[in-house]
Amino acid sequence: MSAQRIADDLLRPFQLERTGLRGRLVRLGGALDRILTRHDYAEPVGQLLGELLVLAAALAGGLRFQGTFSLQAKGSGPVSLLLADYTHDGAMRGYARYDAERIDAGSDIAALLGDGRLAITVDQGDAGAAYQSIVELTGISLTECMQTYFRQSEQLKTGLKIAVGRVAENGAWRWRGGGLMVQRLADQPVDDEHQEDWHRTMLLLGTATDAELLDPGLPADALLYRLFHEEGVRVFAPQDLRFGCRCTRERVEKLLRSFPDAEVDEMRQDDGLVVVTCQFCNAGFRFDDAQLARLHARGAH
Ligand SMILES: [Zn+2]
Repeated sequence: MSAQRIADDLLRPFQLERTGLRGRLVRLGGALDRILTRHDYAEPVGQLLGELLVLAAALAGGLRFQGTFSLQAKGSGPVSLLLADYTHDGAMRGYARYDAERIDAGSDIAALLGDGRLAITVDQGDAGAAYQSIVELTGISLTECMQTYFRQSEQLKTGLKIAVGRVAENGAWRWRGGGLMVQRLADQPVDDEHQEDWHRTMLLLGTATDAELLDPGLPADALLYRLFHEEGVRVFAPQDLRFGCRCTRERVEKLLRSFPDAEVDEMRQDDGLVVVTCQFCNAGFRFDDAQLARLHARGAH
């Protein structure tokens, strides 16, 4: 069998020529699998974090920014923290903190996250203003909660369809995610004809199945054509997506220097080393006596 590689891990912007509506298709394969398998997440937690990561790519893909776009959900339930990060060049990472003993039946956000909030943050560092929006956790999924947010706020009219799951690929069950987002631009009129356009497009969006969104054998553009060919779908240059963490030894050193020496000493393992593990990528940064002494000496200035 000729294994022609199908482009994966990408964000494909598109426009529907018939109506002027804009959208994005997100396809995450290896990148999502790498993020989720760095930690041995319980299945419903992997599912939830995967959904947040696909949402992050879909939302961030429509913004112009230089820096980091992040979605952070905090709740009172067994999953107390979910974090998905997207940088403007397509690097993604994610993290979930949860109480494994409290994860049982029930996969809706009420059962997993409980009462809580989802923060949408764009951080441009020194390059520009940071801004944040807060979304209440409602509905049965993160996607639904985001839909409600777009409906209730003065945001662009938005349709979303997200799927996350494990798919058999080369003899292994790998995480995959797919997402479709369609938005009406702010300057488009809201008359009957345009309402009709919107309604029709949402019906088409709704026909995308989870299997189609996750199928590694179905190219992104073939899926877009299948869904929207009568709307005159035109695609734009894709953004590659990948797993990427921003942790560095320098950042960990800076963090350790910010702690009192006694506290750093308490972090020593039995072998005397201090090991700091990145919560995102699980990379371990090890510090021996000499390295710690240097940190302490520098921290004293
Ligand atoms: Zn890391």
